[in-house]
Amino acid sequence: MAKFLAVLSIVAILVGTAPSVTASPQAEGQATLVQEFDWIRQGQVGILHLSGPGIQWAYAKFLRQTFLFFPDPRCTEKCGDQIALLSAPMTTTIEFHPMSVKVYYEDGSSETIEGSIRVAYGEFGQEELTLPANLIPLLEPEVTDRENTFLHSLLSNFRPQQDWLNSGFKLPREGHYVSIYGTWRTFNGGTRWYRHSGVDYPMPMGTPIQAAADGRVIYVGAIAIRGNYMVIDHGWGIFTGYGHASETYVKVGDVVVQNEIIGAVGNTGRSTGPHLHFEIGIGGVLVNPLVVVPLLNQLRMEQSNGS
Ligand SMILES: [Zn+2]
Repeated sequence: MAKFLAVLSIVAILVGTAPSVTASPQAEGQATLVQEFDWIRQGQVGILHLSGPGIQWAYAKFLRQTFLFFPDPRCTEKCGDQIALLSAPMTTTIEFHPMSVKVYYEDGSSETIEGSIRVAYGEFGQEELTLPANLIPLLEPEVTDRENTFLHSLLSNFRPQQDWLNSGFKLPREGHYVSIYGTWRTFNGGTRWYRHSGVDYPMPMGTPIQAAADGRVIYVGAIAIRGNYMVIDHGWGIFTGYGHASETYVKVGDVVVQNEIIGAVGNTGRSTGPHLHFEIGIGGVLVNPLVVVPLLNQLRMEQSNGS
């Protein structure tokens, strides 16, 4: 069961006609916003829950990202509640951060709800890696910055389709990973620290790479660090990425289903041996797959049967 722990203060700013008072317990323009969490850990996700009459659409602003609200899959169509998946980058400072939600109502009015969200430590490890000499140029900070900027633009879109709710998510396999999300890394004895954006699964060269959930392919190409890389858009601003492939079997625009083979494991890009680099992005932020995948699957399991 979700914990409703913090009800945020609500400041209604009515624009246009005043809502009529009916038998409804709440008049339009009085949305209730609840955080279904105590805090969001660095690199993780929290659910914002919005309820009230006549809500047409809404978005949240948090840590310079915009997050759209979508119909809460846990309630029936008539319920009208909406949720947003709020993500915090692994580099977020550990403190309270301002958050605001803009709500638009069917009668043309709108309101802004202000609040703050506590970001907590993400519990990350560290490791030392050795790269062959020919890959050392890929450690230049500009290379990382360029790739991060590219990924951020790729992962910041919101498609309202909820493909992921059809299938849920599946990690590449249970366990047997060697490097987790957020790990601090040094290479070849250097003093510069890098962060790991996903989970690494060592697998023999050529092992099939399967789609983690239903979705649509939005990127296939070769980039510096991730090598041959594929991205699937699962709707709601949720994306999965698959790096270092030896081969890719899909193209942009392809509709894929969960477990469909989209490529083969390889050692392309900044890689020290054949493995699958698996990552998940929500709202433009790469987050911890080992935590976020179970959270999304739980949300799906609680989905209303519409009765
Ligand atoms: Zn990796």
